[in-house]
Amino acid sequence: MRSRKSLCLARFNSPSKQLPTEHPLNKEILFISDLHISLEKPEITRRFLSFLKDRAPKAAAVYILGDLFDAWIGDDDPTPPNNKIRKQLKHLTNSGTKVYLQQGNRDFLLGNKFCEDTGVTLIDDYLVIDLLGTPTLLTHGDLLCSDDLPYQAFRTKSHTPEWRHYVLSKPLIIRLVMARWYRFRSYFHKRNKTQEIMDVNQGTVINVMREHHCLRLIHGHTHRPAIHDFEINGQPAQRFVLAAWTKDAAEILCWRNSTYQIESI
Ligand code: MN
Repeated sequence: MRSRKSLCLARFNSPSKQLPTEHPLNKEILFISDLHISLEKPEITRRFLSFLKDRAPKAAAVYILGDLFDAWIGDDDPTPPNNKIRKQLKHLTNSGTKVYLQQGNRDFLLGNKFCEDTGVTLIDDYLVIDLLGTPTLLTHGDLLCSDDLPYQAFRTKSHTPEWRHYVLSKPLIIRLVMARWYRFRSYFHKRNKTQEIMDVNQGTVINVMREHHCLRLIHGHTHRPAIHDFEINGQPAQRFVLAAWTKDAAEILCWRNSTYQIESI
Protein backbone atom coordinates (compact mmCIF):
# COMPACT_ATOMS: atom_id res chain seq x y z
CA MET A 1 0.00 0.00 0.00
CA ARG A 2 1.24 3.47 -0.85
CA SER A 3 1.97 5.86 1.97
CA ARG A 4 -0.35 8.77 2.52
CA LYS A 5 2.37 11.19 1.51
CA SER A 6 2.84 9.61 -1.91
CA LEU A 7 -0.95 9.56 -2.37
CA CYS A 8 -1.12 13.32 -1.82
CA LEU A 9 1.66 14.01 -4.29
CA ALA A 10 0.20 11.69 -6.89
CA ARG A 11 -3.26 13.12 -6.60
CA PHE A 12 -2.37 16.77 -6.97
CA ASN A 13 -0.05 16.68 -9.95
CA SER A 14 -3.02 17.65 -12.10
CA PRO A 15 -3.82 21.38 -12.34
CA SER A 16 -6.40 22.34 -9.76
CA LYS A 17 -9.35 24.66 -10.10
CA GLN A 18 -9.01 27.89 -8.17
CA LEU A 19 -12.32 29.39 -7.15
CA PRO A 20 -12.70 32.57 -5.11
CA THR A 21 -12.74 31.90 -1.37
CA GLU A 22 -12.86 33.90 1.82
CA HIS A 23 -9.15 33.20 2.46
CA PRO A 24 -6.23 34.56 0.45
CA LEU A 25 -5.02 31.84 -1.91
CA ASN A 26 -1.42 32.00 -0.78
CA LYS A 27 -2.42 31.28 2.80
CA GLU A 28 -2.73 27.95 4.47
CA ILE A 29 -5.60 26.33 6.33
CA LEU A 30 -4.57 23.84 9.00
CA PHE A 31 -6.58 21.04 10.58
CA ILE A 32 -5.76 19.21 13.79
CA SER A 33 -7.74 17.16 16.31
CA ASP A 34 -7.49 14.77 19.22
CA LEU A 35 -4.59 16.32 21.10
CA HIS A 36 -6.11 15.14 24.38
CA ILE A 37 -4.14 17.73 26.33
CA SER A 38 -3.85 16.98 30.04
CA LEU A 39 -1.58 17.58 33.00
CA GLU A 40 -0.30 14.00 32.69
CA LYS A 41 1.01 14.49 29.14
CA PRO A 42 3.34 17.53 29.24
CA GLU A 43 5.00 16.61 25.91
CA ILE A 44 1.73 17.16 24.05
CA THR A 45 1.19 20.51 25.75
CA ARG A 46 4.73 21.56 24.83
CA ARG A 47 4.23 20.48 21.23
CA PHE A 48 0.92 22.35 20.99
CA LEU A 49 2.33 25.53 22.53
CA SER A 50 5.21 25.51 20.06
CA PHE A 51 2.75 24.83 17.20
CA LEU A 52 0.75 27.91 18.29
CA LYS A 53 3.87 30.00 18.55
CA ASP A 54 5.86 28.95 15.47
CA ARG A 55 3.72 27.11 12.92
CA ALA A 56 0.15 28.38 13.28
CA PRO A 57 0.90 32.13 12.73
CA LYS A 58 1.88 31.32 9.11
CA ALA A 59 -1.66 30.05 8.44
CA ALA A 60 -4.80 32.03 7.68
CA ALA A 61 -6.87 29.69 9.83
CA VAL A 62 -6.56 26.74 12.16
CA TYR A 63 -9.43 24.31 12.65
CA ILE A 64 -9.32 22.20 15.79
CA LEU A 65 -11.83 19.40 15.24
CA GLY A 66 -12.48 18.31 18.80
CA ASP A 67 -10.81 16.68 21.78
CA LEU A 68 -8.25 19.43 22.13
CA PHE A 69 -8.45 18.57 25.83
CA ASP A 70 -8.62 15.11 27.33
CA ALA A 71 -11.34 16.38 29.65
CA TRP A 72 -13.05 19.73 30.09
CA ILE A 73 -15.20 20.30 33.13
CA GLY A 74 -16.06 23.95 32.55
CA ASP A 75 -14.46 27.19 31.36
CA ASP A 76 -13.73 28.15 34.98
CA ASP A 77 -11.26 25.28 35.51
CA PRO A 78 -7.78 26.74 36.17
CA THR A 79 -6.02 23.33 36.31
CA PRO A 80 -2.67 23.48 34.46
CA PRO A 81 -1.98 23.68 31.59
CA ASN A 82 -5.32 25.37 30.79
CA ASN A 83 -4.14 28.93 31.43
CA LYS A 84 -0.97 28.55 29.36
CA ILE A 85 -3.05 27.22 26.48
CA ARG A 86 -5.59 30.06 26.83
CA LYS A 87 -2.81 32.65 26.77
CA GLN A 88 -1.02 31.25 23.72
CA LEU A 89 -4.30 30.85 21.79
CA LYS A 90 -5.13 34.48 22.58
CA HIS A 91 -1.73 35.52 21.33
CA LEU A 92 -2.31 33.66 18.06
CA THR A 93 -5.81 35.04 17.44
CA ASN A 94 -4.58 38.56 18.26
CA SER A 95 -1.87 38.16 15.63
CA GLY A 96 -4.52 37.60 12.94
CA THR A 97 -4.80 33.83 12.52
CA LYS A 98 -8.40 32.67 12.86
CA VAL A 99 -8.92 29.70 15.14
CA TYR A 100 -12.09 27.59 14.87
CA LEU A 101 -12.91 25.02 17.49
CA GLN A 102 -15.29 22.09 17.37
CA GLN A 103 -16.17 20.33 20.59
CA GLY A 104 -15.14 16.67 20.91
CA ASN A 105 -16.66 13.97 23.06
CA ARG A 106 -14.08 14.75 25.77
CA ASP A 107 -14.33 18.53 25.76
CA PHE A 108 -17.95 19.19 24.79
CA LEU A 109 -18.32 21.53 27.78
CA LEU A 110 -16.01 24.09 26.16
CA GLY A 111 -18.09 27.24 26.07
CA ASN A 112 -18.41 30.97 25.50
CA LYS A 113 -16.07 32.01 28.31
CA PHE A 114 -13.26 29.97 26.78
CA CYS A 115 -13.94 31.70 23.45
CA GLU A 116 -13.85 35.13 25.08
CA ASP A 117 -10.58 34.28 26.84
CA THR A 118 -8.87 32.99 23.71
CA GLY A 119 -10.47 34.67 20.69
CA VAL A 120 -11.33 31.28 19.18
CA THR A 121 -14.69 30.69 17.49
CA LEU A 122 -16.79 27.66 18.44
CA ILE A 123 -18.21 25.95 15.36
CA ASP A 124 -21.11 23.53 14.97
CA ASP A 125 -20.74 19.82 14.53
CA TYR A 126 -21.61 19.31 11.59
CA LEU A 127 -20.30 22.35 9.70
CA VAL A 128 -19.74 22.88 5.97
CA ILE A 129 -16.95 25.29 5.03
CA ASP A 130 -15.72 26.57 1.69
CA LEU A 131 -12.22 25.11 1.79
CA LEU A 132 -10.33 26.97 -0.94
CA GLY A 133 -13.24 26.49 -3.32
CA THR A 134 -14.57 23.06 -2.30
CA PRO A 135 -17.48 22.55 0.09
CA THR A 136 -16.01 20.51 2.93
CA LEU A 137 -17.88 18.89 5.79
CA LEU A 138 -16.23 19.09 9.22
CA THR A 139 -17.14 16.96 12.22
CA HIS A 140 -15.37 15.66 15.31
CA GLY A 141 -16.35 12.15 14.23
CA ASP A 142 -18.20 10.63 17.17
CA LEU A 143 -21.55 11.23 15.43
CA LEU A 144 -20.37 8.96 12.61
CA CYS A 145 -19.87 6.03 14.99
CA SER A 146 -23.55 5.23 14.77
CA ASP A 147 -23.15 1.51 15.60
CA ASP A 148 -22.20 2.42 19.17
CA LEU A 149 -25.75 2.81 20.42
CA PRO A 150 -25.04 3.22 24.18
CA TYR A 151 -22.55 6.00 23.40
CA GLN A 152 -24.97 7.75 21.03
CA ALA A 153 -27.66 7.64 23.75
CA PHE A 154 -25.25 9.23 26.23
CA ARG A 155 -24.23 11.83 23.65
CA THR A 156 -27.81 12.86 22.99
CA LYS A 157 -28.51 13.19 26.72
CA SER A 158 -25.29 15.05 27.54
CA HIS A 159 -25.79 17.61 24.76
CA THR A 160 -29.12 18.89 26.10
CA PRO A 161 -29.13 22.35 27.76
CA GLU A 162 -30.60 20.71 30.90
CA TRP A 163 -27.70 18.27 31.30
CA ARG A 164 -25.19 21.01 30.59
CA HIS A 165 -26.78 23.25 33.19
CA TYR A 166 -27.02 20.40 35.70
CA VAL A 167 -23.29 19.69 35.41
CA LEU A 168 -21.98 23.26 35.15
CA SER A 169 -23.97 24.39 38.19
CA LYS A 170 -22.00 21.97 40.41
CA PRO A 171 -18.90 23.19 42.26
CA LEU A 172 -15.61 22.63 40.43
CA ILE A 173 -14.46 19.90 42.81
CA ILE A 174 -17.64 17.87 42.23
CA ARG A 175 -17.19 18.23 38.46
CA LEU A 176 -13.63 16.92 38.82
CA VAL A 177 -14.90 13.83 40.57
CA MET A 178 -17.70 13.38 38.02
CA ALA A 179 -15.20 13.60 35.14
CA ARG A 180 -13.05 10.90 36.77
CA TRP A 181 -16.09 8.71 37.18
CA TYR A 182 -17.16 9.13 33.54
CA ARG A 183 -13.65 8.36 32.33
CA PHE A 184 -13.44 5.26 34.49
CA ARG A 185 -16.83 4.07 33.28
CA SER A 186 -15.99 4.75 29.64
CA TYR A 187 -12.76 2.75 30.00
CA PHE A 188 -14.68 -0.30 31.19
CA HIS A 189 -17.41 0.08 28.56
CA LYS A 190 -14.82 0.36 25.79
CA ARG A 191 -13.15 -2.90 26.80
CA ASN A 192 -16.27 -4.79 25.73
CA LYS A 193 -16.68 -3.00 22.41
CA THR A 194 -15.22 -4.30 19.15
CA GLN A 195 -13.01 -2.14 16.92
CA GLU A 196 -15.77 -2.11 14.28
CA ILE A 197 -18.35 -0.70 16.67
CA MET A 198 -16.02 2.12 17.66
CA ASP A 199 -15.20 3.06 14.04
CA VAL A 200 -17.36 5.14 11.73
CA ASN A 201 -20.27 3.56 9.90
CA GLN A 202 -19.69 4.01 6.15
CA GLY A 203 -23.44 4.20 5.46
CA THR A 204 -23.71 7.06 7.96
CA VAL A 205 -20.71 8.78 6.35
CA ILE A 206 -22.35 8.67 2.92
CA ASN A 207 -25.74 9.80 4.28
CA VAL A 208 -24.36 12.86 6.08
CA MET A 209 -22.14 13.83 3.15
CA ARG A 210 -25.18 13.59 0.84
CA GLU A 211 -27.33 15.59 3.26
CA HIS A 212 -24.71 18.34 3.39
CA HIS A 213 -23.94 18.19 -0.37
CA CYS A 214 -20.23 17.54 0.21
CA LEU A 215 -17.78 15.21 -1.49
CA ARG A 216 -15.07 15.94 1.07
CA LEU A 217 -15.21 15.18 4.78
CA ILE A 218 -12.58 15.90 7.45
CA HIS A 219 -12.86 14.42 10.95
CA GLY A 220 -10.91 13.04 13.88
CA HIS A 221 -12.01 10.99 16.90
CA THR A 222 -11.25 7.46 15.74
CA HIS A 223 -7.44 7.82 16.00
CA ARG A 224 -7.15 5.94 12.69
CA PRO A 225 -5.47 8.48 10.41
CA ALA A 226 -6.14 7.76 6.75
CA ILE A 227 -7.49 9.16 3.51
CA HIS A 228 -10.40 7.09 2.25
CA ASP A 229 -11.55 7.25 -1.37
CA PHE A 230 -15.04 6.14 -2.35
CA GLU A 231 -17.95 7.25 -4.50
CA ILE A 232 -21.18 9.07 -3.80
CA ASN A 233 -23.72 8.93 -6.64
CA GLY A 234 -20.90 7.95 -9.01
CA GLN A 235 -18.71 10.92 -8.02
CA PRO A 236 -15.33 10.59 -6.28
CA ALA A 237 -15.50 11.41 -2.57
CA GLN A 238 -12.83 11.61 0.11
CA ARG A 239 -12.78 11.22 3.88
CA PHE A 240 -9.74 12.58 5.71
CA VAL A 241 -9.22 11.13 9.18
CA LEU A 242 -6.90 13.24 11.33
CA ALA A 243 -4.28 11.67 13.57
CA ALA A 244 -4.36 11.86 17.35
CA TRP A 245 -1.31 13.55 18.88
CA THR A 246 0.94 11.44 21.07
CA LYS A 247 3.96 12.28 23.16
CA ASP A 248 6.20 11.22 20.26
CA ALA A 249 4.38 12.44 17.16
CA ALA A 250 1.88 14.94 15.85
CA GLU A 251 0.36 15.56 12.44
CA ILE A 252 -1.25 18.53 10.77
CA LEU A 253 -3.41 18.42 7.66
CA CYS A 254 -2.36 21.49 5.71
CA TRP A 255 -4.30 22.88 2.72
CA ARG A 256 -2.77 25.44 0.44
CA ASN A 257 -3.78 26.41 -3.12
CA SER A 258 -6.21 23.45 -3.40
CA THR A 259 -3.54 20.90 -2.56
CA TYR A 260 -2.86 19.30 0.77
CA GLN A 261 -0.04 17.72 2.63
CA ILE A 262 0.31 16.00 5.93
CA GLU A 263 2.99 17.61 8.05
CA SER A 264 4.67 15.88 10.94
CA ILE A 265 5.80 18.04 13.83
MN1 MN B 1 -13.06 11.90 20.35
